Amino acid sequence: MTPNDCIFCRIAAGEIPARILARTDSALAFHDLNPQAPHHVLVIPVPHISGAAAVGSETEVWAPLMSLATEVARQLGLDEKGYRLVLNQGQDGGQSGGHLHVHLLGGRRMSWPPG
Ligand code: 5GP
Ligand code: ZN
Repeated sequence: MTPNDCIFCRIAAGEIPARILARTDSALAFHDLNPQAPHHVLVIPVPHISGAAAVGSETEVWAPLMSLATEVARQLGLDEKGYRLVLNQGQDGGQSGGHLHVHLLGGRRMSWPPG
């Protein structure tokens, strides 16, 4: 998959509209199109990376991603009651989008174990 046919790359490039919450040089946070909780935000790296398994030794990917996810959670007022960060990898993990993303879910009580 190239950035041209990747939806999340096109959102990062401003070619597909999204409700953007926060942006840094290396990561972007926007509302999920099909929210599964009162707050459902996707946090992506700006460069195209297909998923967690593709990160390998490029561990510098993680800090900006997780920092932005926790920062947006704080801005949404979720720190006190809590929230869940989810990263789906591959078929068994339930990944459908081919660009690495972290789900920030909040505003309701989450169940465990996950489905
Ligand atoms: P996955 O199943 O890969 O972990 O999550 C992909 C997520 O991307 C889904 O929650 C889906 O609703 C969201 N999504 C898919 N296409 C779009 C889009 O064009 N815009 C936005 N904002 N979210 C999308
Ligand atoms: Zn991409």
